[in-house]
Amino acid sequence: MNYKEALRHPVFKIISKSVEELDLCAYAIGGFVRDFLLKRGDAKDIDIVAIGSGIELAKQVSKNLPNKPKVQVFKTYGTAMLRYEDIEIEFVGARKESYSEDSRNPIVENGSLQDDQNRRDFTINALALSLNESTFGNLLDPFDGTQDLENKIIRTPLNPDITYSDDPLRMLRAIRFATQLGFKIEENSLEAITRNSSRIKIITMERVVSELHKILESDKPSIGFLLLEKTGLLDYILPELTALKGVEEVEGQRHKDNFYHTLEVVDNISKHTNNLWLRWAALLHDIGKAPTKKFHKRIGWTFHGHEFEGSKMVYKLFKKLKMPLNDKMKFVQKMVLMSSRPIVLAQDMVTDSAVRRLVFDAGDYVDDLMTLCEADITTKNPKKFQKYHNNFKIVREKIIEVEERDHVRNFQPPISGEEIMKTFNLKPSREIGVIKEFIKEAILEGDIPNEYEAAYTLMLKKGKKLGLEVRS
Ligand code: ATP
Repeated sequence: MNYKEALRHPVFKIISKSVEELDLCAYAIGGFVRDFLLKRGDAKDIDIVAIGSGIELAKQVSKNLPNKPKVQVFKTYGTAMLRYEDIEIEFVGARKESYSEDSRNPIVENGSLQDDQNRRDFTINALALSLNESTFGNLLDPFDGTQDLENKIIRTPLNPDITYSDDPLRMLRAIRFATQLGFKIEENSLEAITRNSSRIKIITMERVVSELHKILESDKPSIGFLLLEKTGLLDYILPELTALKGVEEVEGQRHKDNFYHTLEVVDNISKHTNNLWLRWAALLHDIGKAPTKKFHKRIGWTFHGHEFEGSKMVYKLFKKLKMPLNDKMKFVQKMVLMSSRPIVLAQDMVTDSAVRRLVFDAGDYVDDLMTLCEADITTKNPKKFQKYHNNFKIVREKIIEVEERDHVRNFQPPISGEEIMKTFNLKPSREIGVIKEFIKEAILEGDIPNEYEAAYTLMLKKGKKLGLEVRS
């Protein structure tokens, strides 16, 4: 392999020149080198480690670049960053780190390249390419990281118990890389994660969530969630999900394991959408099933109201994970709340009025809801699988048909409250709501078209029934 190829961007020649001018040694290191070897495309984030001052090197590089970009210095971290074209280059001096029990922020000293590579999380993230002129493009790989890349293995450079205990975020990073890259976590490492799982408590929620997002954004998120479960981490992060584990049997009646079902749904939906929040909805769509589970002698297992319970849990869960309680959260709530609606539809005859109600309630999210419900089909019975998919196809066709005809998406009632007040000479009162609701129901039922004339006539009829008189 010609590693110089990784350094073909002209900026590396300029860094190299700067390194020589300052009489330093410096290396491109970490994710940039890993992703080049994995052919994951050209990275836009480049980490440079200098044996000496990273900040001085950044300033020298800026001086040598044609546009003299601004150098952002982070004094506390001893790092500096500059942007050139569309890439972001971070400079840091090589460090040696030592950790205390209760923090993932180490005590830092200046160190050698080897010290710096020792503090890296994984062998595949410790690869370094020399930037000095005489050794330009030479690979420094003290832990056989290239071998691990080839064998698709996540391994820590040092004793995994120390690596994970020092900075427990690395446990999540290991699982995230395994998921993103389709790699295996080496056995000792996996055991060490399991042993150290409770240490995850010292990591801030923001960091945890950022890794969860990356797992969910992968092609097959179940890899990550299975590992989180296996190592015990999921119990600390998302106990609402582990609560779905297990199959209970009473009097010969069993229900499905909703944890594994959920993971299947997440994998399914990931084939059809990159929308992170829709993937979150798939992950959480059944969380209300644990607290609502009941066994009835006559009907077997039920999960009545789990969608409503689940949507309430979404709020609490977002809050606990310190995720913003914004429209994304509301979207996930809505998906969870409505997650059974199309399924009920697809089991019966698909009537126009049921579809109209679905479109009315789901608004702009009706397509996302259908995508979620299609992903929810995990039956292993091929006949049923086909049948449910066909039914959903019919529902989708009906949605288009009803939409074109009735325009109930983001429904605005054709008669306003104000018009009702004017017509019957009313002050704000209960009757107005009653009439509005009556008109809405009639439209959704298909009794009248979604048009002004028809709605006006119905308003007069309903007003008369309520004993109201039309203002002359
Ligand atoms: P990605 O960009 O996908 O997150 P990355 O490996 O580039 O992957 P960064 O967070 O940018 O991730 O980290 C850059 C490098 O810094 C890593 O490749 C690794 O060498 C090192 N690193 C990052 N986080 C840690 C950590 N918690 N412990 C040890 N080394 C780390």
